[in-house]
Amino acid sequence: MTGAEKTWLENRPEGLYCVPGGFHIDPHRPVDRAVLTHGHADHTRPGNDAILATPETLAIAESRYEGRAANRVQALSYGETIRLGEVDLRLVPAGHILGSAQVVMEHRGQRITVSGDYKRRADPTCAPFEVVESDIFITEATFGLPVFRHPPDAEEIGKLLDSMAAFPDRTHLLGVYALGKCQRMILLLRAAGHDETIYLHGALEKLCKLYRRFGVDLGPTAPAAGLPGSALKGKLVMCPPSAIADRWSRKFGDAVTAVASGWMRVRARARQRGAELPLIVSDHADWDELCQTIGDVNAGEIWVTHGREDALVHQARAMGLEAKALHMIGREEEGE
Ligand SMILES: [Zn+2]
Ligand SMILES: [Zn+2]
Repeated sequence: MTGAEKTWLENRPEGLYCVPGGFHIDPHRPVDRAVLTHGHADHTRPGNDAILATPETLAIAESRYEGRAANRVQALSYGETIRLGEVDLRLVPAGHILGSAQVVMEHRGQRITVSGDYKRRADPTCAPFEVVESDIFITEATFGLPVFRHPPDAEEIGKLLDSMAAFPDRTHLLGVYALGKCQRMILLLRAAGHDETIYLHGALEKLCKLYRRFGVDLGPTAPAAGLPGSALKGKLVMCPPSAIADRWSRKFGDAVTAVASGWMRVRARARQRGAELPLIVSDHADWDELCQTIGDVNAGEIWVTHGREDALVHQARAMGLEAKALHMIGREEEGE
């Protein structure tokens, strides 16, 4: 079915707006009522009057904004359905980070699903992506080019562990985003048998604590602060990517520098980040996962947002689907 954008889901300057439900999804300006897909800063912004999200996303928003997230919050767990206005709404796992959800809306027999950010591969820190057959599916396209094919996670983790074995006297500094990537890398390392204490930059500690509160067992970690560089030789220290080029990293001497991100596929980005050891580990669907998903959801119409839209629109049309790019504003590239 076409024309739904005009009839009940509108692409407004402040973000997608569900007309019969009276709410925005991931608005980038404060609104009266927002439904949030997940806690990354470009999706969950402060200052909305009312927000609805999974309990995990609400906890992340509270941890980041400390009382400024919203005046009123409402939790909706995976699998529950509520009625907002004339719309039945549920949140379905997106497999992106802890609490991440697809927003599934039904109105007068038509189902529209907004994916938020998602990935299809296994991630022990969050519930796996669920396919929801939909009339219209709105997909992200952060890595929406055929050049972006993420290798198996275990291969990338293997590179890091090999380097630690080859340079047992050097600190390994691993740059990761604080929300999602940090906790996933820790669990991937644990799954590969690394059970030693992992040292954390202060900027990573709060969200690790939050993940633990939601039952994610990260194994032994300790703050890197306050320890002399000499005590961390041969150890793994995780930090935000920006800290690698920072004065903070000097105490580690000739550390091996690694960064884990989907963008590490691009050599110039790895150089720019100062990553000797670029690890391609992403919390977003790669090209193959995007193409698989737009087929799996069996939608007549695909709307593409949030990244490299044109290639995926072209691909969807080649698959016989109606497709268009939303060209939403306020969706800067996600650091991930
Ligand atoms: Zn995200
Ligand atoms: Zn995003």
